[in-house]
Amino acid sequence: MSEQLPPTEQCRSCKAPIRWARTQHGKHIPVNAEPSTSGNVLLDHIGGVLHAGVMRGNQLAAVRRTDRPLFLPHFVDCPNAGEWRKR
Ligand SMILES: [Zn+2]
Repeated sequence: MSEQLPPTEQCRSCKAPIRWARTQHGKHIPVNAEPSTSGNVLLDHIGGVLHAGVMRGNQLAAVRRTDRPLFLPHFVDCPNAGEWRKR
């Protein structure tokens, strides 16, 4: 079972509330604190690690039919996204 999501942190460039999560590929990505109807990331907090399941295509469509919240990676709508690309 997924645990409650960890507390949020602030984006270093725009101060928006975000959470850092680890993708299937072991990469850490910032995810917006609030779920979004256009989100494509499932969050699972397991054993103290926040896992980001990045969904695509049919998988994403299937999750959207459930009531699980989906989150948007923060670099999609960070007003300072230009800074993210440099990293
Ligand atoms: Zn930001």
